[in-house]
Amino acid sequence: LMELVGVWKTYRMGEVEVPALKPTDLKVYRGEILVILGPSGSGKSTLLNLMGGIDQPSGGRLLYEGQDLSKVGDNRLTAYRRHHVGFIFQFFDLISNLTVTENVALGAEIAGRRGAFAPILENLGLAGKEGNFPSQLSGGEQQRVAIARALAKEPDLMLCDEPTGSLDFRTGLLVLQLLHRASREMGKTVVIITHNTPIGKMGDRVLYMRDGVIDRIETNESPLDPLLISW
Ligand code: ATP
Ligand code: MG
Repeated sequence: LMELVGVWKTYRMGEVEVPALKPTDLKVYRGEILVILGPSGSGKSTLLNLMGGIDQPSGGRLLYEGQDLSKVGDNRLTAYRRHHVGFIFQFFDLISNLTVTENVALGAEIAGRRGAFAPILENLGLAGKEGNFPSQLSGGEQQRVAIARALAKEPDLMLCDEPTGSLDFRTGLLVLQLLHRASREMGKTVVIITHNTPIGKMGDRVLYMRDGVIDRIETNESPLDPLLISW
């Protein structure tokens, strides 16, 4: 689905350049679950944001279905982000003065989709909450709305930056299971950043980052349903 060739990123902080990602090669395969582990500051979010077109690399080539995103202009990059990528963040990032349905509809609208959300909401256990505002939902429910919003875009790629970071253990597991299903039942390519090492067991591959480099990549012969991981 995606290939990074020698992709690197530095952030400019006044006079200094902060190296966040050193030249990196990586292939992301369609339909896989890729879990990214690594200490704080190791470049996980930087890598994810580059994959999602939130940021442009300082150098290298970033190919999505063969198209080099590092060469396209802002408009094309925005179109890529809107049509092909669903984002899920730690703090849900829902729009607080829109209801559940409106938040999800916005996701679809951004991607130019017109679909029925009822099945998505029902599938994610949100039936009956359609008219609630985010403040009237639990953290787990808010994250499920964020997943619904991402899925309503009908993206190929779901990019999740610490999706369970602000949820309790049990609620986090249920969120992970929904992401697992998005991959296994809907064929989505799912990338999950986490600090929680056992979550690696749900990945087809686990990528370990350290100091802006991919230290190693492990392949799981039989990735687990998150509910079956032993902790
Ligand atoms: P965490 O687990 O804490 O989220 P991370 O692995 O996601 O960490 P990154 O956010 O990718 O780490 O950051 C990698 C490096 O780049 C860090 O040294 C960080 O300080 C720096 N960095 C990240 N974003 C910016 C930015 N917008 N401006 C300047 N420096 C940045
Ligand atoms: Mg991060």
